[in-house]
Amino acid sequence: MQRASNGLGSHNAKRKRSAAGLARVDRATPIRRPRGKAAKQQRQQVGNVPITHPERVIDPGSGLTKLDIARYYERIAPVLLPHLEDRPVSLVRLPEGLGGEQFFQKHMDKDRIPEVKLLDPQLDPGHLPLILIESTTALVGAAQMGAIELHTWNAIAGSIERPDRIIFDLDPDPALPWARVLEAAELTKTLLDELGVKSFAKTSGGRGLHIVVPLRRLHDWDTAKAFSQAVSAHLAATIPTLFSAKMGPQNRVGKVFVDYLRNNRGSTTVSAFSLRARPGLPVSVPVSWNELVEIKQSDHWNLRNIHERLADQTEDPWCEYEKSRQSLRKAIALLEKSRQKGKG
Ligand code: ATP
Ligand code: MN
Repeated sequence: MQRASNGLGSHNAKRKRSAAGLARVDRATPIRRPRGKAAKQQRQQVGNVPITHPERVIDPGSGLTKLDIARYYERIAPVLLPHLEDRPVSLVRLPEGLGGEQFFQKHMDKDRIPEVKLLDPQLDPGHLPLILIESTTALVGAAQMGAIELHTWNAIAGSIERPDRIIFDLDPDPALPWARVLEAAELTKTLLDELGVKSFAKTSGGRGLHIVVPLRRLHDWDTAKAFSQAVSAHLAATIPTLFSAKMGPQNRVGKVFVDYLRNNRGSTTVSAFSLRARPGLPVSVPVSWNELVEIKQSDHWNLRNIHERLADQTEDPWCEYEKSRQSLRKAIALLEKSRQKGKG
């Protein structure tokens, strides 16, 4: 998992310099669209993908540009691509940058991105084909199209009716102290442990946390969703001062909403190592349960500092993920039993 950060130090220094310099220019002058010779000079390649408007500032706060994003995706590809393999992906595109118009794109009609794969339209009937991004070129090509975030399904295309994970999206009341969010995550893990279910955490890069449960591809969508809803309901029933199982800001005042709705067929969640279209361009990052307590906020890592983490890391915090694929059969029965007891 450390491959991404090998030998790119000088590239990084160059990128930082150019980002800082261009940010100054851009703040002082409105965006101009250079023509002719000037336009040619501003063309840049990342890998074999030509980047148009490389100097465009995407995040005014940090001065990070479209070129920075394309280079980020080129460099992070070795650790990101395994999370995208055979998994339908949606793109969150902001061609004009933060504050500009935002497009959430789940389907594509033709190959607008080099090396993108378009899936059989039958996987999502009534729509254009779903998208696969499985190469560095396709990733950089997505960035060239203005994509900042990549969101993935809970199933792979080769087994679309049998999800291979469920995700609990912990959404705190924005006023809630971070320590309470961590407490909620620990308690969710404890419940899952008691049910014999292994789980993994990642920062969302936003305000909350994502808890991921790897599955063997045994269950249909209804089963996966019913289980995640039952977990959410159990937490809210047991610890109502901290947990809510109901959507909507009014239902989570002072609480954490454990969102199970990410587990519908076709629902997506931001991929590990995707950037977020938020100030500072944070990154969603897998963490171990032990290190989670040391993290100060969900946007702890971003485009600039993620490479340090990857370089320092001696072990992939999710190295147990693949071997932890599991059935929910026993856990479903246990939860149901406890629900019955609660009623009686
Ligand atoms: P936070 O920790 O701040 O809650 P998050 O990633 O959990 O971060 P959002 O960024 O609010 O939360 O995620 C929105 C969810 O809705 C994601 O699952 C995303 O895939 C989905 N989504 C976003 N925009 C659209 C859209 N236009 N259509 C369908 N789904 C969308
Ligand atoms: Mn969330």
